[in-house]
Amino acid sequence: MRSTGISLQGAIELIRPSVIEHLMRVVCLDLEGVLVPEIWINVARTTGIPDLNLTTRDIPDYHELMKTRLGILDRHGVTLPDITGVIASMEPLEGALTFLSTLRERTQVVILSDTFQEFAKPLMQRLKWPTLFCNSLSVDDAGRITGYQLRQEDGKREAVRALSTMNLTVYAAGDSWNDLTMIQEAHQGAFFQPPESIRREHPEVPVCMDYRELEEFLLT
Ligand SMILES: [Mg+2]
Repeated sequence: MRSTGISLQGAIELIRPSVIEHLMRVVCLDLEGVLVPEIWINVARTTGIPDLNLTTRDIPDYHELMKTRLGILDRHGVTLPDITGVIASMEPLEGALTFLSTLRERTQVVILSDTFQEFAKPLMQRLKWPTLFCNSLSVDDAGRITGYQLRQEDGKREAVRALSTMNLTVYAAGDSWNDLTMIQEAHQGAFFQPPESIRREHPEVPVCMDYRELEEFLLT
C-alpha cells in the first residue's frame, strides 16, 4: 500500500473525540490588545499627538470615539498613508503568532475587530492571514480619512449570533468594552488582560492573563 506519510498513531490522534469536538467550535478573538498592540496608541506615539491615545477603554461609545479621532487627524493633517506607515512597522504581541497558530490547528478561529481593513493588512500578514471580519474607511484622493463604514452595528455580537445559528459552539475573548456584547453572546467568553474597570463591573466574566491561560480556556 502506498504510504500516506501519516503514522497510525498520527491518524488516531486526528480523530480523537476532543479534536472532533473542537471542529464544531469556533473561537472569536478580538485583535488589538489580544494579538497586536493598540493601533491608535502606536499612531499617537509616532505622530506625537497624545490625543490619539484615546481607545474604547476611555470612550466606550465607538461612534463618539471615531468622531473624536477623525477630528484630531484633520486638525493635525494626518493622512491614511501616515497611519499605514506606522502600522507597517508594528509587530504582533510577543507569543501571539504561536498562540494563534496553535488555536488554528485545533479549532476554527475568526478575528472580530473594530479596526479597518485598510489598517489591518500588514498585521494580518504577520499573523499568517487568519480570517478577519472588520470595518472599512472612506478616504479622499489626498489620503484624508473622511469617514468609516461599519460592517454592521454591534458587529462582533452579530457575528457570534450568526455563527451560533450554524450549529457551532462559539467561544470568544477580548480585552475591553467593545468586546463585552460578543463575550456575553458567546457560549463561553473571557476577558484577556482587561483593564481593572471592566473587570470590576463584570466579575461574572472569566479573566485570562496570559496566552497559556487563554489557550486552556478556549480549547477545553
Ligand atoms: Mg481590543
